[in-house]
Amino acid sequence: MAAKRLQRLDISDELKERLARQGLTTCADVLAKSPLELMKLSGRSGLTVHDLVHRCCLSQAVKPVTALHLLKSRERGGTFFATSLPDLDKVLHGGIPTATMTEIAGPAGCGKTQFSMTLSVLATLPVEDGGLGGGVVYIDTEGAFSAKRLLEIAQTRLPQQFQDDSSLKELASQVHIVSVQSCKNLMNRLQSIEEDLIQKKIKLMVLDSVASLVRKEYSNVQGGMMRRTDFLASEAALLKYIAETFSIPVIVTNQITTRYGQRAPVSSPHTPDDGDGSVEVDGEGSYLTAALGNTWSHSVNTRLILQYLAGDRRQILVAKSPVAPFTCFDFIITKKGVEQDVQGQGHYKGTDPGKQAIQGRAGLSVGSTQW
Ligand code: ATP
Ligand code: MG
Repeated sequence: MAAKRLQRLDISDELKERLARQGLTTCADVLAKSPLELMKLSGRSGLTVHDLVHRCCLSQAVKPVTALHLLKSRERGGTFFATSLPDLDKVLHGGIPTATMTEIAGPAGCGKTQFSMTLSVLATLPVEDGGLGGGVVYIDTEGAFSAKRLLEIAQTRLPQQFQDDSSLKELASQVHIVSVQSCKNLMNRLQSIEEDLIQKKIKLMVLDSVASLVRKEYSNVQGGMMRRTDFLASEAALLKYIAETFSIPVIVTNQITTRYGQRAPVSSPHTPDDGDGSVEVDGEGSYLTAALGNTWSHSVNTRLILQYLAGDRRQILVAKSPVAPFTCFDFIITKKGVEQDVQGQGHYKGTDPGKQAIQGRAGLSVGSTQW
């Protein structure tokens, strides 16, 4: 991330201070200047400036690792974050992958925030209890996070670990809520979050949701689609950088939209459709799919889709994964948060995740544009 702070670079404190006085605090600030400008601003020789630029560039380069290294770190654990939904964890080779971005998409009220809060509780557990043994940054763009609900999930799900006030307080102090109200605000926050991640020993980052702000700000404005694509590309790059650099799972929730055109051939025994599995919304060949378009779909490493079944039952689809086939499992939401529905089971064959049809709540029209 070019927004990496110079503070974290191995250069003298004196040089850092001098550059800060000139308004240069990140690698991006340095790399935006010419060597001559840097010499003037820092009062240093060309050689020192060359070294500074070299260090800034190096800090941006992602170091390659071997497959053997990945295998070994998997054996040591910590490569996957168990969701405590047994079948989902099994198919994902242990859970949500760390160091990558996982999206949870689905219709309103289907359980994205509940799932995110459940995972936030689990992340704070010690590693030996299946957690990540650290804090959580929960970026809330919708004001949907509820501390009360977080504690209810913890208390009812894990009564042994959270039986007294002090353990609940400890949990509450490990989940850091960041409220953001605009896309600009969000990018600024993401660009300066590195120090927080280190200081607070963050092991999970949640962005709930990735869609609400961009949909609000870039809809119905001239050139909005192109600007939105640019914004989403920068946002995805930042989120992936954070996931990789800190080796943590980054979870983003996404809304759904209606797409027009040929429906994707999807089949699920649970989907009350008309034969091919895709779900018609208005009878004119439109269907529900994850929002934000194909470019965003490609940025996401793992996509989980939540959808409604009959009544209160819900289903989770593994719609995109580098390790798992298209699969589905039934789940329920209870006081304990999101749980696997032991009554249900599933088998599912999907297609292009960008065209993934999603089952909305019966009788409700969900999403109305291609945004
Ligand atoms: P949105 O797109 O609007 O943000 P969402 O997918 O994030 O929606 P959630 O807020 O995660 O939806 O889920 C809300 C649903 O969770 C409620 O409609 C209810 O069915 C269920 N729910 C919330 N709290 C509880 C609880 N304590 N016990 C059982 N179910 C609950
Ligand atoms: Mg929500």
